Amino acid sequence: MKRFKYSELTASDINKLVQRNVDPANEIRTVVEEVIANVQQHGDSALIDYAHKFDKVELNKLYLNKAELEELATAITAEQKTALETAYNNIYKFHETQLKTEDKVETMPGVTCWRELRPIEKVGLYIPGGSAVLPSTFLMLGIPARIAGCHEIVVCSPPQKSGKVNAFIAYVALQLGIDKIYLAGGAQAIAAMAYGTESITKVDKIFGPGNQFVTKAKTIIQSTTTTAIDMPAGPSEVLVLADDTAIPAYIAADLLAQAEHGIDSQSVLVCTSAAIAEAALAEIEKQLPVLPRAEIAKLALDNSYIVITSSLAEAMDFSNQYAPEHLILATHSWEQITGSIINAGSVFLGNLTPESAGDYASGTNHTLPTSSYARAYSGVSVDSFVKKITFQHITREGIQNIGHTVEVLAEMEGLHAHRNAVSIRKS
Ligand code: NAD
Repeated sequence: MKRFKYSELTASDINKLVQRNVDPANEIRTVVEEVIANVQQHGDSALIDYAHKFDKVELNKLYLNKAELEELATAITAEQKTALETAYNNIYKFHETQLKTEDKVETMPGVTCWRELRPIEKVGLYIPGGSAVLPSTFLMLGIPARIAGCHEIVVCSPPQKSGKVNAFIAYVALQLGIDKIYLAGGAQAIAAMAYGTESITKVDKIFGPGNQFVTKAKTIIQSTTTTAIDMPAGPSEVLVLADDTAIPAYIAADLLAQAEHGIDSQSVLVCTSAAIAEAALAEIEKQLPVLPRAEIAKLALDNSYIVITSSLAEAMDFSNQYAPEHLILATHSWEQITGSIINAGSVFLGNLTPESAGDYASGTNHTLPTSSYARAYSGVSVDSFVKKITFQHITREGIQNIGHTVEVLAEMEGLHAHRNAVSIRKS
């Protein structure tokens, strides 16, 4: 990992350091635009061709049905089942509280306004399955979709070498009451859900993280179709903000947990103590070699760095500019600094709160904005699966109370029909 001293960085150095997943030559865009055009034109047959090209499998059918999912799910052990059920319950418990009914507001006597939630009717869930299969992502998307009450839930996940999904994805589908999974990955899956194919329904909104091809496809279809997206949730990243109360072995474990996601993942350490940072690096040397995904983690760490600051305030300043997907506050003083967090997707407080807990089972959602989109986007929640429709009702008293104001404003804008729509009711 490269090392930098915050005091020696110029504003332009910091700008460069906090940039990630830029595609300056538009290489990813070019590939993705071709994939989208092909799916738009050739539908299911393009999906079967791409499964052959990118996933190296021959599909004779594009989906798995309930009986096939049940059969696949029998392979999971009792221990795995219990873990998935505990995660399901915690995620459900946390998300369920997000479905709130709002109060009606009387803005003037006789003028009442309020908002009501309605589920988005058709949603598409993308469950990544390239370098690692992520049943946890299926829980993180499927549970809020169910709580919101979405009518149709379309699920796409890349086919594995077996030409199917794995037992864990199959089991989660059954937990969620979903009885079909389409075997499509990458940009082609996103295109299929945005345009529809012979077998895949066009959805109103697409959810889910993925690699750079998936994320680019989501950002493209968002502006070229009527399908919305949750957020750009691309290659994962963590920023560990530490001081001399942090434990180097824990920091190392957290940086490695992020790095093993993929070679395009990023792990950043911002630390007030050079000695703790060096000790964390020594710990990485110890913990890395025994990881089954050591090669991937090593490449991701080559793309990662350490910034040494002279105070926690400086460290937080850097973190806010980075706008991390995951922020770990590895310090006993976390309570004093949470108020100064401006940009972050999800925050893990203190030395005993690893990101892995939130990735899997504590209850919060792990589908989060990456690549500095945490400046403006929130992670997935039940809110992401609903629309909030405004309502208003005006009584005879209300039209008298608000009428003159509307007449004057309509007059100011020269919109006489607007004025008349009120005047006619007042008299
Ligand atoms: P993926 O499912 O996103 O992508 C696999 C698909 O990519 C393949 O099916 C294939 O169709 C396509 N693909 C692969 N190589 C291609 C190429 N050269 N050209 C065109 N398409 C190609 O799985 P993944 O690759 O393992 O990536 C998962 C990503 O999701 C990781 O980067 C991980 O960090 C990220 N993630 C993010 C979050 C979040 O909330 N932000 C959460 C979990 C995972």
